[in-house]
Amino acid sequence: MIFMEDLDYCTSAKGMFGKHMLDAGFGQFRTIVKYVCWKRGKFFAEVDARGTSQECPECGGLVKKDLSVRVHSCPNCGYTTDRDVAAGQNIRNRGIKLISTVGQTGMETACAVDLPGTDASQSRQVAKSRKGKTRKSSK
Ligand SMILES: [Zn+2]
Repeated sequence: MIFMEDLDYCTSAKGMFGKHMLDAGFGQFRTIVKYVCWKRGKFFAEVDARGTSQECPECGGLVKKDLSVRVHSCPNCGYTTDRDVAAGQNIRNRGIKLISTVGQTGMETACAVDLPGTDASQSRQVAKSRKGKTRKSSK
């Protein structure tokens, strides 16, 4: 399963990250990840991204830091890791919490309806068996 933050990249592009957010194509990347998950039958969900960089993934405590602080070091439980790793762990924790909540598991199929060309690839995927064709044995 894959969880991604539900950031509105159009809003971010107007804000502090400016045009870099659009140049890097984050929104497009998310669409591709969503599609690949759907195609491979993997679970995909977006989680609330607010405060993921300010929260301790180990104890849940609030650890305030601005963008220049690259290391997460929790004064409550002592957990120390890279800032981005901590944010990723928070997204994972929230995702697992989300799917363990009754009534939220239906989100899995939500991406199937709004992706262009998914009908065609679905029928192709069913018809085509890749068993034994993709790799030859390395003897
Ligand atoms: Zn902590």
